[in-house]
Amino acid sequence: MGSESKSTSYVRKDQQPLLKVTGLQKYFSTPAKGLGGMFGRSLPLRAVDDVTFEVMPGEVFGLVGESGSGKSTLGSMVAHLIKPTAGTVELDGKPWSTLSDRELGAKRRGVQVVFQNPYGSLDPRWTVEKIVGEPIVTYERIGRRALRERVAEFLLAVGLSVEHLDRLPSQFSGGQRQRVALARALAGNPRLLVADEPVSALDVSVQAQVINLMRDLHERQSMAMLFISHNLAVVHHLCERVGILYLGKLVEVGPVDVVFSSPLHPYTRSLLDAIPEPDPHPSRLIPLKGEIPSPIAPPSGCHFHPRCIRATVKCGEVAPVITAKGGDRHVACHFPTD
Ligand code: SF4
Repeated sequence: MGSESKSTSYVRKDQQPLLKVTGLQKYFSTPAKGLGGMFGRSLPLRAVDDVTFEVMPGEVFGLVGESGSGKSTLGSMVAHLIKPTAGTVELDGKPWSTLSDRELGAKRRGVQVVFQNPYGSLDPRWTVEKIVGEPIVTYERIGRRALRERVAEFLLAVGLSVEHLDRLPSQFSGGQRQRVALARALAGNPRLLVADEPVSALDVSVQAQVINLMRDLHERQSMAMLFISHNLAVVHHLCERVGILYLGKLVEVGPVDVVFSSPLHPYTRSLLDAIPEPDPHPSRLIPLKGEIPSPIAPPSGCHFHPRCIRATVKCGEVAPVITAKGGDRHVACHFPTD
């Protein structure tokens, strides 16, 4: 029986990555149920387990997984909102952990976050001018009038108008609030935007508008994005490369068009087969069995083996290491589906 945990790098050798995540782990302590819990024992919940990937300058990298896969925890560590248990997050080759307070402030400004719930992330007592202006006044000395003009420019960039400057978040629709959150993120002049399920709380009719806006902003500002979502169609529309997370581990990484047209990992294939199509090919379909297991007691070997129709004895005993397959593709599977 074995469990290998070697980290693998997906560096494109011709470029310096903007973001480099290496061997990243986040374990939370959870009280053990039963007798052990009575005596204060706790068990580790492996939310993120030895994850390595890079995002290039100006690239949109999608992170996909079911609820409980660890994708939001991973995004929070990238944005320095929570500390990793182990591993490193580097921006422009500098690990967060080695930066002085001053350097950290500058780097933090370069990484902005947009969350799923735009209402929860905006202070309900602040006007839009104050919300969007805050990242500017935190890092710059700027007069009131100039600040108001700068904020107005960001509002225009996200499809809002000058009349919205003095309104409160409660006076906006969900889609407009997400536009305010985007304007605030842009005001930080980010090189990397971490977008955590940014449209999943919005009406379907508004989702496409916000996604197209994000795509437009990315192209105009050459801003890289870590786009976290469970919506494969949106990821396909927006992202250049994609990483598939399962129980805190990356199981497949590659260019989004190639991964979605010919997935190597059985889990990726099952996720894609779950998308309703007008004319599916029944012989290709691999149904996804059961629920995602608990990250407190993940299955041995390959964590996906209880749900995988290709699983063998080896899969239950030996954890597959993520390895290069050519064409900028990587997969963690003993028996890839190609
Ligand atoms: Fe399935 Fe085995 Fe591959 Fe895991 S290693 S995905 S169980 S075939």
